[in-house]
Amino acid sequence: MKRVIVLGTGGTIAGSGGLPGANVGYTAGTIPVSDLLTGITGPADLVLEGEQVAQLDSKDMELETWLQLRARCVHWLAQADVAGVVITHGTDTIEETAFFLASTVATSKPIVLTCAMRPATALSPDGPQNLRDALSVAADPAAAGVVVVCAGEIHGARHVSKSHPYRLNAFSSGDIGPLGYVEEGQVRLVHGWPSLLKAEPTLDPEIWSAGADWPRVEILMSHAGASGMLLDLLADQREAGVENAVEGVVIAATGNGSLHQVVEAAAQRAKQRGVAVLIASRCGSGKVLRPDTRGIEDAADLNAPKARIALMLALLCQSRGTHL
Ligand code: ASP
Repeated sequence: MKRVIVLGTGGTIAGSGGLPGANVGYTAGTIPVSDLLTGITGPADLVLEGEQVAQLDSKDMELETWLQLRARCVHWLAQADVAGVVITHGTDTIEETAFFLASTVATSKPIVLTCAMRPATALSPDGPQNLRDALSVAADPAAAGVVVVCAGEIHGARHVSKSHPYRLNAFSSGDIGPLGYVEEGQVRLVHGWPSLLKAEPTLDPEIWSAGADWPRVEILMSHAGASGMLLDLLADQREAGVENAVEGVVIAATGNGSLHQVVEAAAQRAKQRGVAVLIASRCGSGKVLRPDTRGIEDAADLNAPKARIALMLALLCQSRGTHL
């Protein structure tokens, strides 16, 4: 007998309320994970166990919850009879949580995040099927790595992003596409499972505990009519030693990592004043290919929210003289 642990964090999949049967106008994160599991059967011989880690609308996701979630994943995946972990999550930041876990949990077992676009109280909620599909992935003996399962698609943590505010298949992995599909409980893989973190990060254990001191990294955008003013203000704060001032900024750049000239000038000034600057493309697909970086690194195929996580981790490692 194998166990799959279902960690609840809230989201629309656990949402209720609004007009009876409505698809919008509900409150996310109200129904406990134990209730979401009622009547759900995974593949035969699988024992399901629910644990409530958080109960929130994932638009409000914070580092604290990521750290708790990471700790629970590490705990459960270390048990020999646990085949994998499923996480019920809101769709808004599921890609960020997936990328955070993929960057910080070293395991060869699957971590499967799932969600819903309609609340549990909708006339035709999508959550129960998504949860069943996620369980099928977690129970697949070949499955490994951090994936997001929604609307019958399996997406890797690195490339998945929410690409539609409303429709049921709201996720895309850009030009990579889904890693595979779940069809009537069967996993059909069209790419390999995502690559795994090779070893447990060597950061001090206290970094993973509640209240740990992580570098603050903000996201700004380059756009028509940009001024660079926010970047200058953030760098001012850092120079003035304001408490909790930013250590890094990700700039969501236009196209192939290009910056408005005034943003580029502000980015160079910020760098000189000790703020780490990383560029990510606004395009939502593909990989930045810049022949001339002008001294400002880019995040290749990561979108801005994931580049923010990568920069936070890089700054942490830098300050502690270690690497992931
Ligand atoms: N705002 C919700 C959340 O991210 C949306 C959803 O789950 O679909 O928690």
